[in-house]
Amino acid sequence: MKSSIRRRSPTITGSLLFILLTTSNAAVTGLPTKSPASDAQKPQAASLDQTELAKLDEPVVAPNLDLKQVAPLPLPSHSAEPLAEDADPADTVQQATTETAPNQSADEDKLIILGSEIAPGTATRLAWSTDGNIAGLTTPTPVLVIRGMKPGKTMCMTAAVHGDELNGIEIVRRVMYDIDPEDLTGNIIGIPIVNLQGFQRGSRYLSDRRDLNRFFPGESNGSLASRIAHSLFNEVIVHCDFLIDMHTGSLRRTNMPQLRADMRNEEVAELTEGFGKIAVIHSVGSPGMLRYAAVANGIPAATLEVGESLRIQDDQIETGVSSVNRLLEREGMYSRLFTWGDPEPVYYKSSWIRAERGGILFSQREVGDMIEVDDVLGAITDPITNETSNILATITGRIIGMAVDQFVMPGYGCYHIGIEASEEVLADVESTAGTESDVE
Ligand SMILES: [Zn+2]
Repeated sequence: MKSSIRRRSPTITGSLLFILLTTSNAAVTGLPTKSPASDAQKPQAASLDQTELAKLDEPVVAPNLDLKQVAPLPLPSHSAEPLAEDADPADTVQQATTETAPNQSADEDKLIILGSEIAPGTATRLAWSTDGNIAGLTTPTPVLVIRGMKPGKTMCMTAAVHGDELNGIEIVRRVMYDIDPEDLTGNIIGIPIVNLQGFQRGSRYLSDRRDLNRFFPGESNGSLASRIAHSLFNEVIVHCDFLIDMHTGSLRRTNMPQLRADMRNEEVAELTEGFGKIAVIHSVGSPGMLRYAAVANGIPAATLEVGESLRIQDDQIETGVSSVNRLLEREGMYSRLFTWGDPEPVYYKSSWIRAERGGILFSQREVGDMIEVDDVLGAITDPITNETSNILATITGRIIGMAVDQFVMPGYGCYHIGIEASEEVLADVESTAGTESDVE
């Protein structure tokens, strides 16, 4: 997990390249870097020892901010691959020196993200940007970081990977701006709006019309979406010990607040227990999703689905916020005095009830309702023939997601039903990938 990418300090100027070349070779080969004889022969500047040289390469300590205060925008922070192909050979040596230096232990406690070091007991705003944009038009994406006084786990929250899914943005804000770094154990990283491009256009997609949540962990030389995914994954996500990726229903559907998680994975299943009273839907996910890529890289992750796209829904947001706060308490990171409600059941299976006819859908049930076979869920009226037909429940379970009232075509998934099957179905239900239940 330690993959802090170091940014070279601008103070390394040409005059220092000589020093880097002459001293770092020794470090790479493990030879002592300082002997009185060789020092005497060097120009004065060359008497800088490895410690001092390392300082030149140290990340800038991020300013401590009170996240509750209204703040100016963060400055763009360059985020490049650690070594570009055209990197200066002197820099290459310096990089190698840093990585092979024996005195790494002091660095291990440091939290270095996007080239900034975050001091214990502080909070700050950083900015992440990819190289995939027109340089002069790049809009840096804000990244909020809180480092607790005591070391511990790092929780990451990502929202608006789909630019039109707004509830998660507010969940990240409410959770993070209510944390006192002095009382926090571990770290919290929050990216309120991952897909700024989509957000600015009110769209789920990136500007190249790709779905970012199908490209993780990405490739540095892939498509725009793949590059953005790669950059985010390697600059930020690798720092996480666990991840919550926030989404809403898509295509004019709303979701009851729920976790989507691969319950076959022990660590993931354990993570979901910490959220308290919120429904859990077993879903393996599919390759390309952020949570799927995180889990594949050893970072337990779950998707928090809350409400409907393009809306800010206060009640749903509050449910999400208290779930995340419960998780922080459960992980021993931040304590508030909670009364723990009874846990919601895990829905190991889910299924869709679809429209058989086209027309205007008027629902008679709400998200969260328990339903039984043959219950009337809603009706579809053909606006031309005036014919109305009821949609009947074909299974017993709970409405965990549903379409908002709208025009629908035959085959449209109207109601997503969670089924309380026993844990044994996990073996049978290998994956729900490819169905609408996995649109996240
Ligand atoms: Zn989504």
